[in-house]
Amino acid sequence: MKIIERPSPNQDTRGGVGVDMLVLHYTGMTSGEAALARLCDPAAKVSAHYTIDEDGTVYAMVPEAQRAWHAGLSFWAGARDINARSIGIELINPGHEFGYRPFPDAQIGALTALCRQILDRHAIVPWRVLGHSDVAPARKDDPGELFPWAGLAAAGIGFWPAPGDDPGEAAMAPLLMRYGYDPDVPLEKSVAAFQRHFRPSCVDGMADRETRGTLSGLIAAYDVATSART
Ligand SMILES: [Zn+2]
Repeated sequence: MKIIERPSPNQDTRGGVGVDMLVLHYTGMTSGEAALARLCDPAAKVSAHYTIDEDGTVYAMVPEAQRAWHAGLSFWAGARDINARSIGIELINPGHEFGYRPFPDAQIGALTALCRQILDRHAIVPWRVLGHSDVAPARKDDPGELFPWAGLAAAGIGFWPAPGDDPGEAAMAPLLMRYGYDPDVPLEKSVAAFQRHFRPSCVDGMADRETRGTLSGLIAAYDVATSART
């Protein structure tokens, strides 16, 4: 893994909050250089701890001990200052607006190596490795349905559920909230964010049978994992 220092001024203190989340993004800009420039522009007030180019080059932008400004207005499992408690990684990709395309193997390989190091350094449980769209479902679509969440989970990064029983439509909202999604976001948006991460073959915000079963499988595994830890 090739790491290049590209410091961003857009950072401040975590205020004593410990790191317990990893949030993944795409840059959503026409070029990698434009994205790197913006992430270092004081006027833009955005940054990430790392940005990974499509060729696998890793840019280190903000020290992990500091708060980077990547998540914006967001929520997960009762918390709103997601930046204070997370490591943020940007993947260079034009995104849905400028020509969304698959993440190359070199980029995902570098991400996998980097995430392994981060997970060694911080107490981040698998179910708190999330996408920007998970923590801001009303505003964000990144890293999107082309992101290989299942492959990453197979490499030990994140959580990938086996399908469970159909919990019924009425169970969707409470189960999504139980995992961590914002209860104040319209259900269709949370369902779409959940699909983008865990059932990417169809992201339409409709809680169909397969989506419901995937969610119940996730919650069943989550309950086992969390009760085993307490
Ligand atoms: Zn993002």
